[in-house]
Formats: sequence, structure tokens, C-alpha cells
Amino acid sequence: MPDAHEKFKTTCSYCGVGCGIEVTVTGKDRLALNGDPDHPVNKGMLCSKGMNLHYTVMDRTDRLLFPQMRWSKAHPMERVNWDAAIQRAAAVFKTLIEQHGPDSVGFYISGQCLTEEYYLVNKLVKGFLGTNNIDTNSRLCMSSAVAGYKQALGEDSVPIAYEDIEQADCFFIAGANPAWCHPILFRRLEAHKAKNPDTKIIVVDPRVTDTCHLADVHLQILPGTDTVLFHAIGRWLIENGYTDEQFILNHTDGYDHYRKAVLKITLKQAASICKVSVNDLELAARYIGSSKGFISMWAMGLNQSTAGVNKNLALLNLHLITGQIGKPGSGPFSLTGQPNAMGGREVGGMANLLAAHKDLANPEHRESVAKFWGVKEIDAKPGLTATQMFEALRDGRMKAVWIICTNPSVSMPNARLVDEALSAAKFVVVQDISQRSDTLKYADLVLPAASWLEKEGTMTNSERRISYLSKVIDPPGEALPDSEIILRFARAMGFHGFDFDSLGEVYAEHCRLTKGTNIDISGLDYSRLKQLGTVQWPVPSLGHQGTTRLFTDKKFYTPNQRAQIKTNGEELPTEQVTPDHPLILTTGRIRDQWHTMTRTGKVNRLNKHLPHPFLEIHPSDATSRGIKEGDPVVVSSQRGEVRVNAVITSNIKQGVVFLPMHWGKHLGQDFGRANNVTDDSIDPTSKQPGFKFSAVEVKKY
Ligand code: SF4
Repeated sequence: MPDAHEKFKTTCSYCGVGCGIEVTVTGKDRLALNGDPDHPVNKGMLCSKGMNLHYTVMDRTDRLLFPQMRWSKAHPMERVNWDAAIQRAAAVFKTLIEQHGPDSVGFYISGQCLTEEYYLVNKLVKGFLGTNNIDTNSRLCMSSAVAGYKQALGEDSVPIAYEDIEQADCFFIAGANPAWCHPILFRRLEAHKAKNPDTKIIVVDPRVTDTCHLADVHLQILPGTDTVLFHAIGRWLIENGYTDEQFILNHTDGYDHYRKAVLKITLKQAASICKVSVNDLELAARYIGSSKGFISMWAMGLNQSTAGVNKNLALLNLHLITGQIGKPGSGPFSLTGQPNAMGGREVGGMANLLAAHKDLANPEHRESVAKFWGVKEIDAKPGLTATQMFEALRDGRMKAVWIICTNPSVSMPNARLVDEALSAAKFVVVQDISQRSDTLKYADLVLPAASWLEKEGTMTNSERRISYLSKVIDPPGEALPDSEIILRFARAMGFHGFDFDSLGEVYAEHCRLTKGTNIDISGLDYSRLKQLGTVQWPVPSLGHQGTTRLFTDKKFYTPNQRAQIKTNGEELPTEQVTPDHPLILTTGRIRDQWHTMTRTGKVNRLNKHLPHPFLEIHPSDATSRGIKEGDPVVVSSQRGEVRVNAVITSNIKQGVVFLPMHWGKHLGQDFGRANNVTDDSIDPTSKQPGFKFSAVEVKKY
């Protein structure tokens, strides 16, 4: 335990904004917290979630304190020591791999894991267990953005930085509600607009959210029509002479095809498909075309779609045809949902990636990573992605899953399939901090993990900014850092390559592997990070101070260094509304809760904001169903149903309903679990599920 009044700098462990926090130890198990005034991201500000983060650590009443396991599904859970727990995990994994092959096991991890944890699990699974079955809840969050960046820019690379906000004069916020979900970024936007009232803000969302209060234009589109809208804006820019012909000629491929594609649909037709007015559409396009600095921001509204990659590409194209990339105050900016989704991708923590942004599909990349790790080879076959993994467990193709720092029983789409999958699995390991995880009830082995402030490591936020997080206090009971648990398991499996004396050595290995790549951070180690505080990658040499902005030389990471204007069509959502399910359900976050509420749900003042799950429904849709404000309603889809109370509001588009995604089960009863009804169809490229479009019916009960 550190001395009282000792101060530590760290980073918020909720959203991808990555705000700096100062934590002061004020006594035994007592902490005080404030925004770090010197931090370049938040300059001392914190949102409601960040401000209350220390309470989630100080309240240890829900914490998992010691390993537990059961010998069979018929046996009760019993407390065991760490040696017994790790030996059991190793014995089961060895047996299953011997009997059914390495693809019979898999790991499902989290964008909240620290980079070092991600690196170790990825190395363990792909390098040593011999399967690529490791995926993460980032698949539910950013994989469409990753695929879009890779296709258009040649690399999963966010080109800009938060400091570009203060240099832009037009913002296009699509499928995101930063006022609630990325609040400190939104505060910067508000302050910028207050100082520069001519700054134009365009919001694209089927709901009137708090973000819309800042908007000059709100395009309240029908879910699933984003690509049509973006193409219509592209058409207007072309027809009105707002494209950058020199940039297109010198730095892009694919423009002619794009031009032909967007000219196929008139603005009037597009406005009719998207259910917005032609005037608003034209106004938005004019704002973009006449801006000197244009930033687009997007989140799950685009990514969580069966056409998520195409939506991303269609948005990126608006930057490529206007040359609004690679210069101050302009560029595409995907808003990361989780604190370290980007760090996880850097070390290849997904089923189709390799460490250092290398590609599993590339034989040379596989060979170089295998050589670096000292293993014979890395299997070429892509691993199962998030939804595929649970389907494989249900069908018996996968026998065991190790779940780290995530609660799929609540967070995955079509959650009842996930329940079936976890019930059918032969062996489920749940490594978590809290007894509040609904997934625990399926566990055969429970491993208690250390939480934020109880371990050290690094994270990367939405603007490629890497931060070092200090360990401040010891974890409770016998809980261990996730990295230590993985190292113990790797050693019990008899694998070499896991003899690290410190996490700094793990980080140094990761940094070395990036040398010569586009995300080169070989100029970093723990001591430099502690000295610099935070830094944006790439950091390719020891004296390097980091990289604020990418593509300033207009050389992209594609083989010919030209950005690719891709036009892949305008797919309709996989699921269609029908007479039985005539409404479109979209889901999302509320202001004061995080994911499945295992942490934020412990804080009374956060629970006060919106204390119960609810369904937002338009007055016309409510009236036609005889539903009044506060009525209990059942929302049903082909997959299941969920019961909540109705909130009647004209803030939602007619024909569309909204459920918050946070609530799960309570005392064994469904308690507003939105994912009972959501569609688990996936984007064919990114494999990201389409949470934002499910056909449902709503009835009073
Ligand atoms: Fe934490 Fe995000 Fe809030 Fe910043 S904006 S304090 S990172 S939750």
C-alpha cells in the first residue's frame, strides 16, 4: 500500500476517449480522484462515469476473491488454491487439444484488457496452443472500422488527433452520441463551437440525442440507409464542384467507379430512401464542401451493421474526394467504444490478425511472427470470431472457452444462443473481477482478476495515444493481474517464451515486434512512457516524440501508397421488417452506465440517472398499439422477447424503437436484456454483428 497522499497518474478505464486521471491515496482503502489537469486529452475534465471510477474499486463487496472450480457440471463450485486452478485448466485444455485438436478451444477477451494482457493471450493462443480461436468484444465494436481503414488507407490507422477538433470548422457525426458516450470529447466540441459559432455540426441519427442539441443539421435517417446518404452527399459534392481534383488524381484510385455509382441515385431518391428532407441533405453537403477543415466522427451506428464496412468506406470516401485528410483539422475519426480496443488490435488480439498489425492471411507475416516467437508456424486458418465462437460451442465444434474481462451472456447479440452455447460447452473458464457477471453461472473454473489501479500496464485510446497505467493498490483476496494468470497457465502447459520477469519485459517484446511496421513503437519502453506520460504512435526511435497526425505526406499505407476509393454497393440490412415484426429496433448506451453494469451499476449516483431499462417508442407507434407512457411492454423478435416499460417520445423516428444495452438478468430473471431480441447476423467482411437493426414487434402486456 503506498503512503497516504501519494499521487498517481493513470487513465480512465471506460471509453476510448482515454482521459487522464490523478488518483490520491487518502487512507487505507481510501482513494480520491480528479481529472489530470496536465493531460492533453481532457485537461482536467472528467465525465460522470470517470468521476466515480474510484468507488468501483473501493467497494469490494462484489469482488471475486479466490479461485473456484467444479469437478463436473453436477458438482458444486468449491474454493481451490491457484496451483490447483491452473493445473486443472492446463489438464483440461491439454486433453481437449489431444482428443479434438487445437480448434476445439478458444479465448474470448475484451477491449478493456491492457495491451500486455492482450499480447500474452494472443501469443499463447496463436503461437503455442496452435489455434487462431481468439477473439474479443472489440469484434462487436470496431471491426467494421478496422476493415474500412484497411481497405481505404491500407492500415487500421486513425489519421487524426483530438487537437484537430480545435482546428476544424465542420463536423459530421454519424451513428454516434458523443454527448453521452464520449462526453469529454463532446465537451471539447462544445467549447470549440462556443468560441467559433460558425463551426457547422451535422448529426446523422434516427434518434434526437443530446448530441443533436449542438447540431446545425440533424439528418434523422431510417436505420440501415447510411450508405445511400453518404453517396448522396458525395454526388452533391461532385455535381457542385466541391471535390479536390488534384488530390483525387495524385493520391487515390477508384474515383471513376465511385462517381458512376453515386450518380445512379438522385438526391430526391436518396432523401426518400433515407427519410430525410432534400434540403437538409443539401445543406449538410454544402457545409462539408465549403469547409476548410472537415472531421467525421462515427461509432456503433455505422460499425454494428451487416453492411458496416461499406458504411465506413462510404464515409471515408467523403474525405478522399474532398482531400480532407492528412492536414490539420481534417480527417476521419472513428470513436472507440472501449478504453483499449486499439491497443488490443496493435498486438493482433482478434481471430484474423497477428501482432504488430500483421495479417494472419499473409504467409510472410505468419512466418515472421512465428520466427520472432520461436515457434515452428502459425496456423493459416482464421480463427472463429465472436459470434462464430459461440455458435461453435453450441454445436459442439468447440469444447472449451476461456472468457476474460467480458460478460457475453448480456453483451452478445441473440443472447439466448450464447446461454445455450455456454450451457453446452464442456469447460468454461471465467476470469473476471466481479460476482456481478451473468456469465459466471456457466463457469466450471472461476479465476479472480485484479481491477483498474490494482495492476500496471498500457492502453491506447482513440487517437493512437498510448498511456502507462500505474498500480496503486493491491488487489483484494487472492485476485491476480490477468497477465500473471495467463503466464502461470502458459508455464503449466509447458510452453517456453513466457519467462518474463516483469510486465516491462512483455511490453518491450511487443515494441520490438513492431519495428519497421506502420505502427512502429520500437522507440518506446516503460521508462520512456513514464517520462513522456502519454504518446501517439508511431514512435519509431528513442528520441522520437510521437506522431500527431498520419498521412501528412499524402502517402498512404497501401502497396501503391494511394488511398483506395471503394464503392461496394448499398446493401440493405440482412433482417427486413415484416407484418409480424414491423418495427426496427436499435440499441445503445445511456449516459451513466457502462457495458453490462458490473462496475457502474455499483455506484448509486450513476444509477440515479436512468435507473431502469426502458423502450423508447414514437407516439404514433404507441397509440396504434394502445400503449401509454410507462406501460409494461413486451418487445419480441424471431429470437426471443424482453419486457420493459415504455417511454413515449417523438425523439425517436416513427417505425423505430430503442432499447439500452446495459441490463441483463437479475436473480435468474431477464431484467431488460436487450440482446434477447437483437440480430446476430454479421457483416461478411468484418464479422461484426448488426445490433442496430432488428425487426421487432411491441405489445402491451
Ligand atoms: Fe472516462 Fe470516457 Fe468519461 Fe473520459 S469521457 S472520463 S475516458 S468515460
